[in-house]
Amino acid sequence: MINSCTRLCCLIGHPVKHSVSPQMHNTAFRELGLNYVYLAFDVKEEELEDAVKGLRTLGVAGFNITIPHKIRIMQLLNKLDPSAERAGAVNTVVNERGALKGYNTDVYGIERALRRFRLPSSEQAMIIGAGGAARASIIALLNLGFEKILIANRTLKKAQSLADWIKSMGFSADACSLEEGRRRAEGCKLVVNATPIGMHPNVDETPLSRDEIPSDSIILDLVYNPPRTKLLEEAEKAGARVISGIEVLVYQGAEAFKLWTGREAPIEIMREAALRALQEGEAER
Ligand code: NAP
Repeated sequence: MINSCTRLCCLIGHPVKHSVSPQMHNTAFRELGLNYVYLAFDVKEEELEDAVKGLRTLGVAGFNITIPHKIRIMQLLNKLDPSAERAGAVNTVVNERGALKGYNTDVYGIERALRRFRLPSSEQAMIIGAGGAARASIIALLNLGFEKILIANRTLKKAQSLADWIKSMGFSADACSLEEGRRRAEGCKLVVNATPIGMHPNVDETPLSRDEIPSDSIILDLVYNPPRTKLLEEAEKAGARVISGIEVLVYQGAEAFKLWTGREAPIEIMREAALRALQEGEAER
């Protein structure tokens, strides 16, 4: 029951109305009998500073940040965890008695989702995309021992700048266009799609087709709506092992849950709640 002691967690982003994080976290709070509630607030870029001030003043337990605020939020916080510092982006904030500390639990979510397989870390990995999720993927792959990363992106300049960033950390990197990436995928044993290609409503799109995907590769699609994307279907047909973005969503959420509540998150319950919310959203459309 919501009462005067209920702690608030929330999501801020623009837009937020398709997020399933409220269903995922509220189901987990109920499961553990925690007096917390999670809401989603649509906050435009010019409103971010006021929103963060308000959340600090109101004493929220913490919040998630999504597009387009993951980088700008960093200037508005008091402290950064090394996960956020390294990735150069924040997706989770914890309110430590008025001091706001930023974390990047996307990095943890990607690492945790990939750890279920024995990883070919001595081989080249490819990341498709060069935005915030690509940055989190790079840190996760470096943490997992990968040393050679190819970045394929629609805007080549952005891919080159991420490749330079990887090289500045002492690793090997290369950059190419999406078209070239299609040809070079055969030399990569791990591919992460960090673009919205294939996301609802464009469910027939895929960054790679069956004949471009090596049979002995692992394919992680960060897109989670739908949970089984065209890319994952093509990868399965090619004989590759696949991981849905739903796993990353759940693990990044579970880590945020633990940071806010100090309790281990009920992972299965969160996965079910997220999948149910996606299905219900589908039914409403
Ligand atoms: P972002 O910072 O806006 O970056 C988007 C990237 O995708 C850019 O590299 C962009 O290329 C590329 N892109 C966008 N539309 C494209 C199109 N139509 N064709 C080809 N490339 C396109 O976004 P982000 O935060 O990195 O998120 C990327 C995806 O990851 C989203 O779908 C997001 O939902 C997903 N994600 C999932 C999780 C999870 O928990 N599963 C977590 C984080 C993100 P340009 O550089 O050319 O603009």
